[in-house]
Amino acid sequence: MKVLDLFCGHGHGFEGWFGSEDDYQSQQQRGLVQCPLCGSSQVRKGLSAPRLNLGARPAPGGARHREDAPAPGAQAGAASSPQQPPAAAEMAPPAADREALRQMQAQLQAAWLKLSREIAARTEDVGSRFADEARRMHHGDIAERSIRGEATREQAMELLEEGVPVMPLALPVGAKETLQ
Ligand SMILES: [Zn+2]
Repeated sequence: MKVLDLFCGHGHGFEGWFGSEDDYQSQQQRGLVQCPLCGSSQVRKGLSAPRLNLGARPAPGGARHREDAPAPGAQAGAASSPQQPPAAAEMAPPAADREALRQMQAQLQAAWLKLSREIAARTEDVGSRFADEARRMHHGDIAERSIRGEATREQAMELLEEGVPVMPLALPVGAKETLQ
């Protein structure tokens, strides 16, 4: 199992699980790897998260480390001591930071997806009639209600110039999938 940090063209980060690096390459080339947030298949592998070194002290070099390491016989005697091996203590903070970042990102995405679903659930999708509907509502021709739909940039600008309140919103594909 290979867990990769992936990013779509919109900069959404997510995790992809693959059997191997080759699996990822082949699925990515066939457009099967999609961003869970926006559905984009323009997916690339992210650089591995930068290692955050909290301590100013550089990691000891291999040669020096070997000098410091106790002889095999001494190691067995030290096993009962509660002292932490220095290497493990230095590795722990970066891994924890990376996990915290990943969790925070996942939480933000989950919150955005939830909000999007709520917006989708509470608004009526009028599709390409959006500009007309919004305008008629604004002029009091039809009753006010919450609608969403598609409008071109020009249509949105016209509405705003006429004083019709509209808001651009890119709902993730996942928000609409739940509505049957
Ligand atoms: Zn995306």
